[in-house]
Amino acid sequence: MLHRGFEWIAVCGVGALLGGLAWETWFTGAGGAAIPTLLLLALAACFAAQLVADLLSGLAHWLADRVLSESTPVLGTHFVKPFREHHEDPESITRHDFVEVNGNTCILVAPLLALATLGVAQAEPGAARSTAGAFAFFLAVWLCLTNQFHRWSHTAERPVWLLALERTKLVLARDHHARHHKAPFDTHFCITTGMLNPLIDGLGVFARLERAAGCRAALPDPLR
Ligand SMILES: [Zn+2]
Ligand SMILES: [Zn+2]
Repeated sequence: MLHRGFEWIAVCGVGALLGGLAWETWFTGAGGAAIPTLLLLALAACFAAQLVADLLSGLAHWLADRVLSESTPVLGTHFVKPFREHHEDPESITRHDFVEVNGNTCILVAPLLALATLGVAQAEPGAARSTAGAFAFFLAVWLCLTNQFHRWSHTAERPVWLLALERTKLVLARDHHARHHKAPFDTHFCITTGMLNPLIDGLGVFARLERAAGCRAALPDPLR
């Protein structure tokens, strides 16, 4: 119950902070830069933030699935456990409401977003401030929507607009994410859009990290 309260506060807090950051980025922070320039910079920042969010989602998901355990202090209960439960019952995520699906991500993102907003507010107005603000804004948006995209990828009946978004790779596609839920459960960890999975899995990045850390043999096997 207490955690549910934190989730609500974090979801509302992220919404308010995004409004503040947008104001500091595109209104008080533009410093007279031309609108077409601001639009182009915002588009570039949006795409870069999407790639970074996908990478971070993969890293966090891999850590939860393969490295950490439910007994890990602080993170075990609210970060690792939901990932483990998700593998036991992948469709349960579709029965969760918006706050339950996205609350934990917002709890992690909110303090960082507050710092980014303060940093942007104190910078000199101009194109550099607008670009940095736009990157922070879109990174927070993509990160906070990651588990929502993940939820949608487990939903069998999807509206036409969502299927269109899947085709444009703006959200995680159902078929793509389904590969993560197949044995041996060691690929397709990125769950924002999944755009980076072919590259990361092709290079064997996470398998190399596990071998380098010598932790594969010691891993728990909670996913089967
Ligand atoms: Zn997983
Ligand atoms: Zn899943």
